[in-house]
Amino acid sequence: LDSRGSERKLGEPLENPGLYVHVPFCKTKCPYCGFYSVVSTASVPRWLNALREEIRRYENQFGCFDTLYLGGGTPTSLRTEDLETIVASLFTSFRFAEETEMTIEANPGDLTREKARQLRALGFNRVNVGVQSFDDETLRFLGRRHSAREAESSLLAARSAEFGNLGMDLIYGSEVQSLKKWIETLKRSLEFFPEHLSCYELTVEKNTPFWKMKTRGILKPMEEEEAQAFFVTTSQFLEHRGYIHYEVSNFAKTGAHTSRHNQKYWSRAPYLGIGPSAHSFLSGKRWWNWSSVRRYCECLEDGSLPVAGCEQLTEEQEALEWISLGFRTKEGFELRESFADSKMMDVLSMLREKGLCRVENGRVMPTRSGFLVADRLPFFLL
Ligand code: SF4
Repeated sequence: LDSRGSERKLGEPLENPGLYVHVPFCKTKCPYCGFYSVVSTASVPRWLNALREEIRRYENQFGCFDTLYLGGGTPTSLRTEDLETIVASLFTSFRFAEETEMTIEANPGDLTREKARQLRALGFNRVNVGVQSFDDETLRFLGRRHSAREAESSLLAARSAEFGNLGMDLIYGSEVQSLKKWIETLKRSLEFFPEHLSCYELTVEKNTPFWKMKTRGILKPMEEEEAQAFFVTTSQFLEHRGYIHYEVSNFAKTGAHTSRHNQKYWSRAPYLGIGPSAHSFLSGKRWWNWSSVRRYCECLEDGSLPVAGCEQLTEEQEALEWISLGFRTKEGFELRESFADSKMMDVLSMLREKGLCRVENGRVMPTRSGFLVADRLPFFLL
């Protein structure tokens, strides 16, 4: 049973649109992070007004949302009154399904028992905690502002507020972390019986402090073989403990605990993203907002939408996305007639021969080894 109390199976169509709100504030910047956020909170009141205006501008343009995801940035760095303002504006302007999955990303340092209780009272039924590691040395290396002990308290706080759908983000691949230490983190995570786990390899994003360290040779990312060993060990470890490895980086306790919101991205369902840097997708068209709080606010104050760019996908781009996003998920993607004479069939035969996918009832489904090449698949297909 999921947070809505109903049975949901892997592969069920996800047709309702999803709603994402980007909260562009963090108390500190982590040196590896490529997401857009600012540290100063001086512009929060101005940003809140602009956000409310953006919400009004999209009234009646999407159907009935069945997911709401507050991400960032750090949504829990906002005061509860501000979060309440956001939720109230959303529920005034948009329609939501009765059993909407309402997720909020939380930073361990912010998630006290009181805050967790307030988030539940606002209607959030799913919390995703940015634990990253249960090892203090790794947390310091990652520049996180919380300790392992704080991460544990925040998870207990979430449970005490009766969050029945608890997710954790974890990162592997930092040079201070051995495979043994990583397994320790996984074991500690399971002591909290999370419904969902996201296990990301540390990637060095452009224009971050880690990027500069990498270019100067101070920071050495893992070799490919080592990264693969972490990936395979993680997948085996969690699957042996009953978790479903349903997407390259994501694991769910049951089919009902997969992230309904994130599945919209992989299944190319419509979604609306509001806030600076947020992306939206509707009927083959994708658009994205300015990654600047100032510019975002100026646009809305001047009566225009804060859209920085948009693209209408061609049929070929749509097919490429269909395959490369579908190949990231356990359920894979359906073969289409239009693929028949294309290069895609050659690539898929090659992947099948190498044991990277299987084909069943007209669907192509990646194997565990197939997940390892999912990021590179678009390059094979071009
Ligand atoms: S990782 Fe999270 S907390 Fe750290 S800077 Fe990025 S969005 Fe903020």
